[in-house]
Amino acid sequence: MPVEAAVAPRLEISGLSAGYFGQPVVRDLNLRVAPGEVVALLGANGAGKTTTLSTVAGLLDPIAGEVAMDGASIAGRPTHRLAREGLSLVPESRALFNSLTVREHLVLARSGEGDLPQDLIVEMLPELEKCMNRKAGVLSGGEQQMLAVGRALVGRPRLLLVDEMSLGLAPIIVERLLPILRRVATELETGVLFVEQHVPLALQVADRAYVLSHGRLVAEGAAAEMSEQQDLLRSSYLGDEAADAVKGSPAEGRAREQHNGGDKSDAS
Ligand code: ATP
Repeated sequence: MPVEAAVAPRLEISGLSAGYFGQPVVRDLNLRVAPGEVVALLGANGAGKTTTLSTVAGLLDPIAGEVAMDGASIAGRPTHRLAREGLSLVPESRALFNSLTVREHLVLARSGEGDLPQDLIVEMLPELEKCMNRKAGVLSGGEQQMLAVGRALVGRPRLLLVDEMSLGLAPIIVERLLPILRRVATELETGVLFVEQHVPLALQVADRAYVLSHGRLVAEGAAAEMSEQQDLLRSSYLGDEAADAVKGSPAEGRAREQHNGGDKSDAS
């Protein structure tokens, strides 16, 4: 019987330490994203999520460890080269040019024959159509975020990294934006790794999730299962002591109990 060749992960991070001035803020991180998979990277402020994305995107050199895209090492490769090779980052800042129109942003992002046609980008992000000739500086926050995502899609990325797309946006806009990541993954076979503070929404869209706390991985798993582990998520975000203060009982014990399958409330 022929043995099928294993498909390399779109992104594979192994034993990564990353940080600033040689001081790690992310330690020994292992994380994978498959082609067509949507993966959420969760954690409290300062947990190291942006540092992780910046290191994958070539904005920071890793201190230790390996980063590979489709089986080839990309660790320390410069951002502009990674962009040509199919890695797109939507940064938290959106990094738009206020004086350029939406159309100009989309044209400037073109890289060649394999690009997504503008019609398809507008079909995915219909709000952009009416703004084509408007400058980015006068768009609403939601429109700016759609432009940042649309621009990142122009080169048909194999790997899309999205940092806190919902920052400063109304929940209704977030509910509109996050499912676009699912569509991109499904239709383009893009691997998507996104950072998001709206945890319940993130877990609705993601296939899997990783939770960082103080730069270390404290939980990972299928998004549907993680949604059930509210105590674990809470303690990861707040720290066990703060979670205890909120709930008035030992969060660590509950998290461990659920980890071990102690919560059988949904068992038939
Ligand atoms: P947030 O949700 O607040 O953006 P995060 O999980 O993305 O948080 P990071 O931005 O990766 O966290 O920050 C992780 C740690 O690294 C924090 O302690 C932060 O203060 C520190 N840090 C971030 N950027 C720098 C920098 N340019 N120089 C030095 N330290 C930094």
